[in-house]
Amino acid sequence: MRIVLLGFPGSGKGTQAKMMAEKYRVPQISTGDILRAAVADKTEIGKKVAAVMAAGKLVSDDIVIDAVTDRLRGTESRRGFVLDGFPRTVAQADGLAVLLAQRSQRLDAVLSLEVTDEELVDRISGRRVCETCNHVTHVRKVGSALECPDCEGKLVQRSDDEIATVRNRLAVYREKTQPLQEYYAKDTVGLTAVDGMGFIDEIQERLLVALRDLGVN
Ligand code: AMP
Repeated sequence: MRIVLLGFPGSGKGTQAKMMAEKYRVPQISTGDILRAAVADKTEIGKKVAAVMAAGKLVSDDIVIDAVTDRLRGTESRRGFVLDGFPRTVAQADGLAVLLAQRSQRLDAVLSLEVTDEELVDRISGRRVCETCNHVTHVRKVGSALECPDCEGKLVQRSDDEIATVRNRLAVYREKTQPLQEYYAKDTVGLTAVDGMGFIDEIQERLLVALRDLGVN
């Protein structure tokens, strides 16, 4: 199963993509995670993209498409993948179409998580991430605790989750990524909107039902 999960920053797509990927035993390919790891490891790419990410802007299409190409080349994505945070521009969607065509593959579904603006800001400003294992949680759950419930690593706020940067990320999403809704709606794969409000498990169930309705198992 080859799936793209679209959604604004804070829509829950990382959490939901991880759950879907585990359920279907395919890799979750998150360009945000790949780029953050490059920044943390201070690789050549990491040094190039750090300032752009910190400002909440988009990294160049070439860099991101190369990173995804690399991942898709690996044997673990032969059975499929859940793409999380990619594509984010029309050029990236075109790049993905070329990559898949070269492999005689196609997307099975493009899902879009729908969440209100108010909820996005609340989720992002309360988001905490484990420095060690990348576990994502919310201050609503952990309060002021600084310890990861999974691995006891340190919970921190992503620097691009600070409110000034968040506004920028939402504006960038509106301008560059929202056009993908129409792009995929017009494509043979189509676009399936899924209500992203509510509890994590019920949102996951909605996504799985949507996939079943599309005949994707
Ligand atoms: P995310 O974790 O998906 O919110 O991504 C965090 C940041 O990484 C974004 O604000 C961008 O700076 C960068 N990024 C992640 N995915 C992409 C992408 N597909 N294209 C360009 N930049 C990206």
